[in-house]
Amino acid sequence: ALTTVAAFDRIGEENAFAVLARATALAAQGRDIVNLGIGQPDFPTPPHVVEAAVKALRDGHHGYTPSVGILPLREAVARDLDRRFGVAVDPDLVMIVPGGKVTMYAAIRLFGEPGAEILYPDPGFPIYRSMIEHTGATPIPVPAREENGFAFSADELLALITPQTRLIIINSPANPTGGVTPAAEIDKLVTGLEAHPHVALMSDEIYDQLIFDGLEHRTLLAYPSIRDRLIVLNGWSKTYAMTGWRLGWSIWPKALYDDVRKLAVNAWSCVNASTQYAGIAALDGPQDAVDHMRAEFDKRRALVTEGLNALPGVSAITPKGAFYAFPNVSRTGWKAKPLASALLEDAGVAVIGGPDFGVHGEGYIRLSYANSAANISRALERMHAFLSERK
Ligand code: PLP
Repeated sequence: ALTTVAAFDRIGEENAFAVLARATALAAQGRDIVNLGIGQPDFPTPPHVVEAAVKALRDGHHGYTPSVGILPLREAVARDLDRRFGVAVDPDLVMIVPGGKVTMYAAIRLFGEPGAEILYPDPGFPIYRSMIEHTGATPIPVPAREENGFAFSADELLALITPQTRLIIINSPANPTGGVTPAAEIDKLVTGLEAHPHVALMSDEIYDQLIFDGLEHRTLLAYPSIRDRLIVLNGWSKTYAMTGWRLGWSIWPKALYDDVRKLAVNAWSCVNASTQYAGIAALDGPQDAVDHMRAEFDKRRALVTEGLNALPGVSAITPKGAFYAFPNVSRTGWKAKPLASALLEDAGVAVIGGPDFGVHGEGYIRLSYANSAANISRALERMHAFLSERK
């Protein structure tokens, strides 16, 4: 038999992809499945963005680009950040990557090794922990609690820092909870980090444009004091409904940029050229599609929250960002993972069990409301019938 390196005994995955495969298989057998499992917008990419990619192909952009991405796209990212947040970013510190996940991969590779500790949100995006374990580093979960609106507590996070801590990962607005960490808590974190100059910070801001109730996203780029150790993860997937294009951007400290450029040269060379031109059109073009999607998600958020709170044994706080609800199902008589799989197999509703997002996810399930209002209503009706009959 072939023997692979031990690191591959320690690599995990995202159960959302397994649930998607199972839901697709059941649908192929003729079952009517409502999929609230996968986290991707149900809208098409805006037409002017698609046209920009087609034009780039017709114009002959078929070759490699610089590994860090084409300069006009890096400049467009800098302009976007200036327009939205009034922050100045040097385009030479912007890295274009094949999807938001790749920034995570690079950041965790840069700091993860046996003996290193990396703090990450729990419940949180499962790839953080998977990649940390893959590198041999020790994952240190930072709880996100329902009673705090699923925000992290800066005091609790800071208390987990040790001399071995190399990297802290934060995520707001958050997957899987829809939690948004208040600006005051972020201020407190940044102030607290002054005492720990050896620690880098990766802020996953991929849902920054999906925020509701008049809240404003507080980007970590707004804090000059930590720029020399701040990595910001973002991209086009969620904001512009471009999950399948594989396009992300990140901002790096000057001291790390060249290492990531070399990783790109070794691993992916560059993002495909036409997609990068589409990225420029998305950032510089009209933003009405983004506003429209946000408004639609906002309506569905109300629908899903109200429907969940009407289910026997279920309660749900109103999520403030992203497109997920994370209801508490601990009073249904079910553990979260068996409930998620029974809902799929017996009720035809795909959701993800909270424990797939970490130990603090027990007692919760995740529903993505990136689906039509009609499908959300159908899913809620089925869940209601299921929970009323099967206790
Ligand atoms: N970060 C978070 C918190 C996410 O939820 C996701 C996608 O689900 C990503 C990053 C990765 O995005 P991408 O599809 O651009 O790799």
